Amino acid sequence: IPWRDFDESSYISATAIHHGEDKYKRNKFNQQASDKLKCDRPVPDTRNGLCSSNSWDLSKLPATSVIVTFHNEARSTLLRTVVSVLNRSPPSLVREIILVDDFSDNAEDGQLLAQIEKVRVLRNNQREGLMRSRIRGADAAAAPVLTFLDSHVECNKNWLEPLLQRIADDRTAVVCPIIDVINMDNFEYIGASADLRGGFDWNLVFKWDYMSSEERRSRAGNPTAPISTPMIAGGLFSMDKSYFNQLGKYDTAMDVWGGENLEISFRVWQCGGRLEIIPCSRVGHVFRKQHPYTFPGGSGNVFTRNTRRAAEVWMDDYKEYYYAAVPSAKLIPFGNIENRLQIRVRNQCKPFKWYLENVYPELRVPSKESVAFGSIKQGVNKCIDTLGHVQEGSIGLYECHDSGGNQEFSMNKEMQIRHQDLCFTAGEGAREGSIIKLRHCDENNTMQKFEQSKSQLRLYQSSYCIDSRHERDMGLILSKCDHSRSQQWRFSMGDLTH
Ligand code: UDP
Ligand code: MN
Repeated sequence: IPWRDFDESSYISATAIHHGEDKYKRNKFNQQASDKLKCDRPVPDTRNGLCSSNSWDLSKLPATSVIVTFHNEARSTLLRTVVSVLNRSPPSLVREIILVDDFSDNAEDGQLLAQIEKVRVLRNNQREGLMRSRIRGADAAAAPVLTFLDSHVECNKNWLEPLLQRIADDRTAVVCPIIDVINMDNFEYIGASADLRGGFDWNLVFKWDYMSSEERRSRAGNPTAPISTPMIAGGLFSMDKSYFNQLGKYDTAMDVWGGENLEISFRVWQCGGRLEIIPCSRVGHVFRKQHPYTFPGGSGNVFTRNTRRAAEVWMDDYKEYYYAAVPSAKLIPFGNIENRLQIRVRNQCKPFKWYLENVYPELRVPSKESVAFGSIKQGVNKCIDTLGHVQEGSIGLYECHDSGGNQEFSMNKEMQIRHQDLCFTAGEGAREGSIIKLRHCDENNTMQKFEQSKSQLRLYQSSYCIDSRHERDMGLILSKCDHSRSQQWRFSMGDLTH
């Protein structure tokens, strides 16, 4: 039946929030706020104004199969996902919507939607996790392009055409919309910034990076051009189906959630494809702070195991920086990766060094001489900061911003703590109150040698430690080592001893 004839109100009301029940309990978003909204509610057109003058020759675009996996999704968000696809896509371009029910408690959540035009429902008979569920959907797909979506999204006007156009132009382009924000408390639809791309730190956790101001300026003349991105968020993207298969789908040994976006991102770039955000395509997603579902095996372990598999297969020796940033990861077994390594050989994929240099030059790589690297943290969120000072300047503390710059330091085998070519120096010698200054590095200067002992940074062969107790007036100084809190420091990558 057409989606307009579907009995929305009985479908939704059957699983409504009971009086007195916690609205966030089942979904970790406000289900009641979602249930109140119609499945075809309007959303604001959040695109750049120039996008509305785009036009496409629909007869030249490939059709797509939309694949949505879900586990215990709220009915209202799931239905809105489906309806927004049907309602805001040219019908000729959507061959089918494949819902993969990943063993939800109530099989009817999915099954009832199978009456809607184009909707096919596949149900797993055990929990498979999103990677194997997506592969199941992809294998069943009939169209030449796969479009993966989360189960709580709303597609915006003309979201699909620019994605398919890009793939028609280049089958190795893996493309994402800009992900707008559906507020998890009131379900307001809010446009996201068009100046973001996906990245990560050495902990390999996905994060959004702001474009440099230079890049923003250069894009101002052409705001609709694709944004190449080192990493995809993972929930929403389109990819040529034969290319998906050729590059090895997903890693079937990954479970539940997490790490698969890292893996497919490295794989696509290193094996000759590209990842792009298409700014004229907008899809809203309900971002939330917790997962509503169980993680068989424990969420930390599963995420780490998945991430380790990606690192072991794709990162070559650079994986050691991941282990330095997340030492506990080394304790989690990651299983057999033989068949994933074969993908690298079969597709003649490039080394991770190539990826770092050409795709993600912004990610700072510790030098070979470093024994510790990154920010130097005290307590929860104070970091050593050069405060923009240069030669002969002092150093101080500032709120940690985790983006390098004035908070990026390395410690090398010569025991120097460096910021670019300046070194921490006990400015007035080894004595109480000696101000730490930035001076040109000199391997023979014993006032530039510091030892990490416990969490103290002690001037070599002295009993004085870097201390922040008079930070406000003098910056960091030397003071008798006494293990006080003002002498406790932690490098974000604390053990790079190769
Ligand atoms: N999902 C699934 N099986 C699982 C875990 C997740 O099918 O075992 C689905 C989930 O319903 C959602 C998608 O995978 O549609 C992504 O999960 P989620 O939205 O929790 O991730 P986030 O968007 O928060 O990263
Ligand atoms: Mn999601």
